[in-house]
Amino acid sequence: MSQSEIVALAKEEHPYEVPGISTRTITGGNPDYLTWIAQDLRDPDGFRQLLRPACRRCTARRGITGPIASRLPPHLTVCRRHRLWTGPAARTHAGQLDISPFPEILRAQRRHLAELDDHPRQDV
Ligand SMILES: [Zn+2]
Repeated sequence: MSQSEIVALAKEEHPYEVPGISTRTITGGNPDYLTWIAQDLRDPDGFRQLLRPACRRCTARRGITGPIASRLPPHLTVCRRHRLWTGPAARTHAGQLDISPFPEILRAQRRHLAELDDHPRQDV
């Protein structure tokens, strides 16, 4: 995707009327992470699925009351600190459901992250 296509897609998917979109030049970083980002940006559907609001309680702690879009990998579906569902289906703050009555979801997320730590990305 080109930069203008990414900006257009982010504007289309973002809940703000004027989303804060800027560009940065990446001059270095973890090669595995940079490869992963590059692969995701080639797929518009993949990028769209990854763009969702950050945990509403995490942002509120920082004095931000409106939704801010974040680009989270699909396997991060829960804010463990606040026990809120932030998975791809949570496209709005209202969609960030309280999962504290369902401890099995937190356990599953914890186990999944442990599996990711134990295996290279291409094996998962
Ligand atoms: Zn949170």
